[in-house]
Amino acid sequence: MKLERTVSGLRRELAGAPRPVALVPTMGALHEGHLTLIRRAREQGATVVVSIFVNPAQFGPREDLAAYPRDEERDARLAAEVGADLLFVPPAEEVYPPGFDSRVEVGGVSAELEGDPAHRGPEHFRGVATVVAKLFNMVGPDVALFGQKDAQQALVIRKLARDLDFGVRIEVVPTVRDRDGLALSTRNGYLTAAERERALALSRALRAAEALVEGGELETDRVLEAARAELEQAAVVPEYLELRSAADLSPAERVDGEVLMCVAARVGPARLIDNVILRAPAEPTLDTRPLTGAAT
Ligand code: AMP
Repeated sequence: MKLERTVSGLRRELAGAPRPVALVPTMGALHEGHLTLIRRAREQGATVVVSIFVNPAQFGPREDLAAYPRDEERDARLAAEVGADLLFVPPAEEVYPPGFDSRVEVGGVSAELEGDPAHRGPEHFRGVATVVAKLFNMVGPDVALFGQKDAQQALVIRKLARDLDFGVRIEVVPTVRDRDGLALSTRNGYLTAAERERALALSRALRAAEALVEGGELETDRVLEAARAELEQAAVVPEYLELRSAADLSPAERVDGEVLMCVAARVGPARLIDNVILRAPAEPTLDTRPLTGAAT
């Protein structure tokens, strides 16, 4: 695996590289969620590029930019083990040189949930879209892989790629969880054992909602109530707990088609997010009752 820190070095390295090129953008501190994305990229790409960049533009002034864990040596070893060909680790000045003064703003889905000023706010996805657009221009990937764990981010990036004709296929990889259900996240590392126990309420809430929908409950109020009860039991107060259309994040009136249940909550020092896609059980389309005899 090659390591590059400059855009010119990256471009030189990729000039004659076999295609398709698959890109996995990360902020490092790699865990099994990231490694699953890289393994999937390996299946798809002849050249696998992993980027590590803790992007200051997507952190709010009161967020954890300074505390965010960094361990390049360990990340490089893990990325190489799962098959990355090229690790791109630019310093901040390479991505945002003096005088850098542009932002990419994706409309629609960006303003909801995480993008709401009551939560992370509009700067967050502006920062994400800007750095991802730059990475797409630097790498020119054929496919880029993102995690369902950050469902709204995946929707924003799909829209970015489509609206600005990046000509890259966006693949979304299912959320990787610990055995007890907790969605893997770098920020889980901020939790004490007791906080981690409380954090399990997020995935329990989503599972309770999922079980209800699988049983045929389609009323959003009841589904939300079941999830809220799990959070309350662990004294976790959600920043939001919502049911939205999985396609465009518009409010879901009923569990109809694919509905995204998403939750954000602070547990101790960590702000955690999680989500699940709920699907109403399929109606039988044929009469499956057994024949009991011919009607005469
Ligand atoms: P991050 O380093 O947190 O910016 O994440 C880099 C990529 O890994 C993003 O596309 C995330 O959605 C994805 N990711 C993070 N955690 C998980 C997880 N538990 N399962 C699957 N993908 C994940």
